[in-house]
Amino acid sequence: MTTIADRISIAQSRIHQAAQKCARQQQDIALLAVSKTKPVADIIEAYEAGQRKFGENYVQEGEQKIAELSAQYPDIEWHFIGPLQSNKSKIVAENFDWMHTVSRAKIATRLSEQRPANKSPLNVCIQVNVSNEQSKSGIALTELTELAEHIHQQGNLVLRGLMAIPTATDDTELQRQEFAALNEAFKQLKAKYNQVNILSMGMSNDLDIAIEQGSTMVRIGSAIFGKRN
Ligand SMILES: *Cc1c(COP(=O)(O)O)cnc(C)c1O
Repeated sequence: MTTIADRISIAQSRIHQAAQKCARQQQDIALLAVSKTKPVADIIEAYEAGQRKFGENYVQEGEQKIAELSAQYPDIEWHFIGPLQSNKSKIVAENFDWMHTVSRAKIATRLSEQRPANKSPLNVCIQVNVSNEQSKSGIALTELTELAEHIHQQGNLVLRGLMAIPTATDDTELQRQEFAALNEAFKQLKAKYNQVNILSMGMSNDLDIAIEQGSTMVRIGSAIFGKRN
């Protein structure tokens, strides 16, 4: 039976191999372990295998886990990667270190206002809907300049980059095109804002193409923690 530690090391070697194929360095691509729906015992197991970055999708579930773990594991970095309703923004502002899915100015304003004064600014990525699918959240690339500047103006937020969930497809050329478009937008953003250095794209199934197209953070859930119920 494989353990969580085994699966983290498999994920790391997939990152290593994908990086090598395109002459990039493994250490330039962070692994975010997506622990949604999984118990804190699994997070601790991953922690003991050296994992420090964890992603959660559901506000209350994340809040609960952070409350249980933060005193004993203060060096865990908590990333919120799910959809967020504005009436729950305070929970994210007060508990998480990173927020990947900002797609509205109003949410950004609230997160900044609600960020506690004793915490460092919340790291923010803008979610982009690169496939333009109606059902997906995220902004169109045409709206990026304006939202980026709005986030940049917020005192308790720091703009760190872009995040996307691309079209679910077997068409690798389409995936590559979408990732390439994101990378292009990312490079422009990076040229404009000093602290931008995160391109959060690539999951269990499309990690190789994402890394080839410049991803700096891949988000892996089931390949580490097993299938979700
Ligand atoms: C669930 C989730 C992941 C991880 O997906 P897996 O298929 O389990 O690897 C990554 N990113 C986001 C935004 C998710 O919601």
